[in-house]
Order: sequence, then structure tokens, then C-alpha cells
Amino acid sequence: MMRVRVLPPDGTICATAPRWTSRKTVIDFLSDRYEWMQKAVQKVQSRPKPKELNYTEGEQVLLFGKPYPLHLQTILPKEKTHVSFDGQTITLHLKPDSTRRVCEALLQAFYKERLSMVVSIYMNDYQTKLACAPIPFRILRRKSVWGTYNVRNRSIVFNLALSKVPIECVQYVVLHEMTHQFVHAHNSEFYQRMSVFMPDWKERRKALKSVLM
Ligand SMILES: [Zn+2]
Repeated sequence: MMRVRVLPPDGTICATAPRWTSRKTVIDFLSDRYEWMQKAVQKVQSRPKPKELNYTEGEQVLLFGKPYPLHLQTILPKEKTHVSFDGQTITLHLKPDSTRRVCEALLQAFYKERLSMVVSIYMNDYQTKLACAPIPFRILRRKSVWGTYNVRNRSIVFNLALSKVPIECVQYVVLHEMTHQFVHAHNSEFYQRMSVFMPDWKERRKALKSVLM
């Protein structure tokens, strides 16, 4: 089956076709969708994008949907750069010459650790409820999906950006991906299964759709 998608944030067009598809078939397929692609690219490009951080004192940083002020602290020469969080402030402990790159890497590692913790808790909970074996998961940077369930090796990839969305939405994505082990398609059976453990999944999905990826 041929497929074409327009990816955020820049509107890259991504087309896939089975290896044996002829060049002409591919061109025809894309030509038929030319207008749709143009519109989709415009739509993606005009979408507001999440603000880039400047890593300045007091700047607001999102963690599970809530903004926290950023604090920059200079470390002693023998200390290692790291991040601390006391529930109020996210502090980056930096060397005097730490670059923006270092700040970014530190914050990403912090996000990954926090998300991994939250995802593990929800997955454990649903493993019991769904009476299924543990599913291995990874957290990666993804451009256009919050999560992916891999049928072949029975594993899940979660988008690192989930660390910025409200926690109810993270829980929704966890249950959603875990439900795919029983039902692959997004059909009525799939959503019926979701409803058993999360009757308000629709509201959570809506909230997630309003978040900038
Ligand atoms: Zn799905």
C-alpha cells in the first residue's frame, strides 16, 4: 500500500511504497494528491511551534504541562554539570563556560529520566489491569507521533516531548500504545477496550491534540 504524509515541523513530504511499485505508479499516486499535499504542507508550516528555550535565568520550562522557572547555578571546578528539581524550580548546575548545547543536553536528559519514571509507573499499573507481560519501551525524539507500538518485537517507543504534556495525556498515550497489543487498528473494539480502563480517553486525546509537538 502506498502512503504519503506531511511531517511537522517543516512540512517534509514522506512517501512510502512497496519495493516493487513502478515509478509511474508512484508518480501517478503523488500527482493525484498534489493539491492535498500543497494544502497539507501549508497547514503544517503555519502551525504555531513550541517556543525555543534561551536558557536564561527565570525562563519558564514545561514539565508535564506545568511551567517552572529555570535557575542557573555555577558549579565548583570539581563538580559535574547536572539538573536538580525541588518541585518548584528546575536548576541547571553549569560550568561558567557551559554552552547552550550543554544546557539543552542536560535538560533533555532530565526530561528523559522523568518521563521514563512516569511511563514505568503507568505501564506497571496497566500490565496488572490488562493481565499482560511487561512490554519493553524506549524514549526517543520523534517528529510526528506521541507513541508507536511495534508489533514485530512487541515494544513501544514514546516521544520524548511527552515530558512536556499534562500527565493525564501521558497516561492516555501509555494505555493507547498498550492496547495495540490486542487490537492493531483504531477501530471500535480498540476504543471499547480503552474505555474500560479510561472512560474519559476522548477528552485526554483532545487535550493532547491541542499541545504543540
Ligand atoms: Zn494508535
